[in-house]
Amino acid sequence: MNPLGEAGSHTASVSGSGAAITQPSHDYKKGESRISRWQVGDVKVTSVLESAERIPWAPLLGAETAEHYKKYDWLVPRFVTSQGEIILAVQAFVLEAGGRRIVIDTCVGNDKQREIPHCTELETSFLEDLSAAGFPPETIDTVLCTHLHFDHVGWNTQLVNGRWVPTFPNARYLFARREWEYCRSLLDDKTTEVRHILDSVRPILDADLADLVETDHRLSEEMWLEPTHGHTPGHVSLHIHSRGEHAIVTGDVFHSPIQFAEPEICSIACVDKQMSRKTRREFLAKYENKAARLFAVHFNDPVGWIIRDTRNWRFEAQ
Ligand SMILES: [Zn+2]
Repeated sequence: MNPLGEAGSHTASVSGSGAAITQPSHDYKKGESRISRWQVGDVKVTSVLESAERIPWAPLLGAETAEHYKKYDWLVPRFVTSQGEIILAVQAFVLEAGGRRIVIDTCVGNDKQREIPHCTELETSFLEDLSAAGFPPETIDTVLCTHLHFDHVGWNTQLVNGRWVPTFPNARYLFARREWEYCRSLLDDKTTEVRHILDSVRPILDADLADLVETDHRLSEEMWLEPTHGHTPGHVSLHIHSRGEHAIVTGDVFHSPIQFAEPEICSIACVDKQMSRKTRREFLAKYENKAARLFAVHFNDPVGWIIRDTRNWRFEAQ
């Protein structure tokens, strides 16, 4: 099935203008936004892209991957540029189901000081794009963070008069209890970077908008969480099952489709690398050959299938 709406999966569009630009997504330029839409049974899924940066393989993934990717020609040019850089997307998925509006992962956010140069003090049009896509922040009733790394919690809050306030004032924010407890332990550990917890997670708890849920929590008849621990201790993926169609929003189980072919490749941000490898391998085997459609947060072309290949698996973009 092809994406619906303003842009196909291979084209970029400037949201709000209504004008489609026929650029391949790998020609993404900073500051350009993109909105794409899909349908899973009765559930509508919209991606609002915050950024798609071309970055080197290391340090995000191991330096050796800068050579390994050449074995998989299906990675270029959708996920790797012809110059050999990864295209790392950061996007939020909005789900519309049974009258509810659920945002999955909230990107990096604006005005936030971060250690990574292309992620610090951003001034993107994400919030305007979200509204232009039909989702003003006050209409969102649920926010789910697959885990609490800085690039999945950023728009939980925004800077208003010098204070971090909830961006989605009418939403319940779902965090896995196990993930929050891990983050709380980091607050006591003075050696770890915790600014994102202080500016994007803690204010949600302080505002009493957070629901700490189990890692197999069911959001509705058609949506539930699966624990996919390893990248972080309480990482979850979200299942959508509607009218016989099955899809999964995978958070950071994967950063690049090269991890389908080489599941042992971990990102620098994986907290428990051994567990993340095990989770990835089990996940790929469980949902291979179109058992479920994936929505991958960091893929430039985010929707597709796990296909068994001569060497492990490959990602087949939809
Ligand atoms: Zn991430």
